[in-house]
Amino acid sequence: MNQADSARLAAGLERRGYAPAARPEEADLVVVNSCVVRQSAEERVAGQLGALKALKRARPQLQVALTGCLVDSQIAALRRRFPQVDFFFPPQDFQALWERLAPGRPGDEGCLPQKPAGPTAFLPVISGCDEFCAYCIVPYRRGRERSRPLAELRCEAEALARRGVRELTLLGQNVNAYGRDLPGRPDLALLLEELAALPGLRRLRFLTSHPADVTEGFIEAVSRLPQVCPSFSLPVQAGHDNTLRRMGRRGYTVASYKRLVEGIRQALPEAAISTDIIVGFPGETETEFAATLALLEELRCDTVHGAAYSPRPGTAAARLPDDVPPEAKKERLARLEALQERIAGEINAALLGRRVEALVEGQKGGKWWGRTPTGKLVFFADEADRLGQLVEVELTMTGPWSLQGNVQAPAPVVAGGS
Ligand code: SAH
Ligand code: SF4
Repeated sequence: MNQADSARLAAGLERRGYAPAARPEEADLVVVNSCVVRQSAEERVAGQLGALKALKRARPQLQVALTGCLVDSQIAALRRRFPQVDFFFPPQDFQALWERLAPGRPGDEGCLPQKPAGPTAFLPVISGCDEFCAYCIVPYRRGRERSRPLAELRCEAEALARRGVRELTLLGQNVNAYGRDLPGRPDLALLLEELAALPGLRRLRFLTSHPADVTEGFIEAVSRLPQVCPSFSLPVQAGHDNTLRRMGRRGYTVASYKRLVEGIRQALPEAAISTDIIVGFPGETETEFAATLALLEELRCDTVHGAAYSPRPGTAAARLPDDVPPEAKKERLARLEALQERIAGEINAALLGRRVEALVEGQKGGKWWGRTPTGKLVFFADEADRLGQLVEVELTMTGPWSLQGNVQAPAPVVAGGS
């Protein structure tokens, strides 16, 4: 979400006559887009702002703006904590920044508030979150759910496709809540269907799905629309019902989560499942954590994002004792990561010799890289310019984090593509 917001900021600044600087030392304006979902993220932002303090002393004309989830309603307190910041604005309230700067070309934002930097782009479709999971600061900093009208999204997607974007990732903290707050209540399936009909867009992704909001109808839409990638990001957070209950408002049990994954795999046998896990949530016993590992062993997800719990100000869980010691959190995270490395290695090893489709996004270390429909990273060497192409790669090497192979002919054009 922050990447998507930064792309919008950059495009808006360029329209106002700014150009990107290579380093903060050369900039007239630095906008820090902060994340505070975990304590460690907040510390990184504070560190960056610390470095800017020295820079600002050396060059007082430098303007520093701070946005993202560090910006709450207590601006006066923020001003005291970060006197080097000239201007604070809440996440996505870009208008507040534009009003401070020289006017841009009037009314030229149209329906393309970002400048695509390659064949893939993010399309934020719903902001905020109404769930209030006990550990999570997002609803406090990004507010209630707000969906963007379907016509506006169609217009932006069309404009992106005209500029060469081939893959769009529809974003929302709970992307499956899309449309609940709009007149006529369109839903994510309808939105995907409309975007799939646009010429040029070869792939559509969606991120993140709250497990309680993924319906059979939605799974059916994903399997029916060839452009929609069979890739689900379904944060389970914990593998024991007691932990889930303490996490509050998650709205599923371990059993119902397993049924959901089964349902997805029945409809889409190739589907990739990724999940998020918090280790060391208040009161997490060794038994509860062992249940999380057992669930991961059973489900065999393609990707697991593990994080050690940290209390976030204002959340319900921050009132619970943070009673799992830091060493235990670290140790649990290491066990989780070792398990997942093995599972991902095994899942990917089964792909050896297979042909996969990749959309080429760039070059790294002399090789082209892209992603499969399931989101796996693929590298291959080729003399030809493959940027933005859909290619077929025959896999010759696999590891837990990436695949490698030889490029075959460009993949056949799919329905709706160009
Ligand atoms: N909207 C998504 C993710 C939001 S935050 C969802 O519903 O899951 C991204 C991830 O950060 C979460 O999935 C969670 O695993 C992690 N996270 C959120 N708050 C956290 C906290 N206080 N401590 C550690 N990890 C946290
Ligand atoms: Fe946070 Fe829960 Fe909302 Fe995800 S669904 S953003 S974890 S409150």
